[in-house]
Amino acid sequence: KLRVVSGVQPTGYLHIGNYLGALRQWVLNQDKYENLFFVVDLHAITVPQDPKGLADATLSAAALFLACGIDPSKSTIFIQSHVKAHVELCWLLNCITPMGWLERMIQFKEKARKQGENVSVGLFDYPVLMASDILLYQADLVPVGEDQQQHLELVRSISKRFNSLYGKKKKVVFKEPKPLIQDSTSRIMALDDGTSKMSKSSPNDNSRINILDPPDTVKRKIQRCKTDSFMGIVSDPVGRPECTNLLNIYAAFTDQSLAQAEATCREMSWGQFKKLLTDALIAYLEPIQTKYHELRKEESYLKQVLKEGSEYASSIAQETIGKVKDCMGFVGTD
Ligand code: ATP
Ligand code: MG
Repeated sequence: KLRVVSGVQPTGYLHIGNYLGALRQWVLNQDKYENLFFVVDLHAITVPQDPKGLADATLSAAALFLACGIDPSKSTIFIQSHVKAHVELCWLLNCITPMGWLERMIQFKEKARKQGENVSVGLFDYPVLMASDILLYQADLVPVGEDQQQHLELVRSISKRFNSLYGKKKKVVFKEPKPLIQDSTSRIMALDDGTSKMSKSSPNDNSRINILDPPDTVKRKIQRCKTDSFMGIVSDPVGRPECTNLLNIYAAFTDQSLAQAEATCREMSWGQFKKLLTDALIAYLEPIQTKYHELRKEESYLKQVLKEGSEYASSIAQETIGKVKDCMGFVGTD
């Protein structure tokens, strides 16, 4: 089986963009691939963070993996910082990655612009840590939303560069992972602006529907989300980005194609459509939330899953680290 790895940052609580762009796809492909899914807590500290919230956000994300349908008997689930090899490989890869490659990263430029003076070296180095996450496990495929495509391209470049610098006798050290992308839900937009991505780290909670939002919150957020003054509910990405995004969300949560959803909603008023969308979201999220709250009530099961996951992941990771350090010329320990 091909191996898939993917992660979510505990920079906040997961939203429906994370669900549609990542978790749902992980679950759909769970039997097809060998999977490693992790909560990338080391990535989350690349932006200003509150130590009081990190552990809860991390466990919440892991519990949501399970609640959304990731089955620990089929997939390995763990917390990134529990596998020390991520940091070790990151350093080794830092030393072969040209700064110019990182300076071109759009996510860095965008996040750095928001932060002004206090941008950390960690934020700049984020894509190299991501490369470590992926190359450590010799992943074949990485399911990512459109926002991560540029980073994945960089991971491929780093892999190639390492192989050409250190691959012995034409033998490659790292695989070159390929992206696994879904079209219509690979970029869910914010509720307050149809042209910017829905994000966990946006300070405005009303810009997103969180997977854990209770029904009245979902209702309130949909009620006050940005709309337009055109008639009917149709897809028009350029002229009506908000409408297109909401229709897309509606289609995804009712298992319809965009064209099918459009056929149903074309003649509707905003009021009618919002009611339909709200009901669909609430109904879809309810069983996930119930499962989630069960998992968080008694955390020993969750922690056991994470412990076993990190042990298995470490065993794969150590093999890669051994190979990499050997190629680079380090003295071995045995
Ligand atoms: P942050 O704002 O902290 O970057 P985020 O919401 O972008 O948070 P990530 O943890 O960076 O979430 O990404 C987790 C996964 O969810 C990735 O696979 C990413 O591609 C996907 N993803 C993130 N935002 C969206 C979105 N708006 N639509 C679809 N997929 C998304
Ligand atoms: Mg992100």
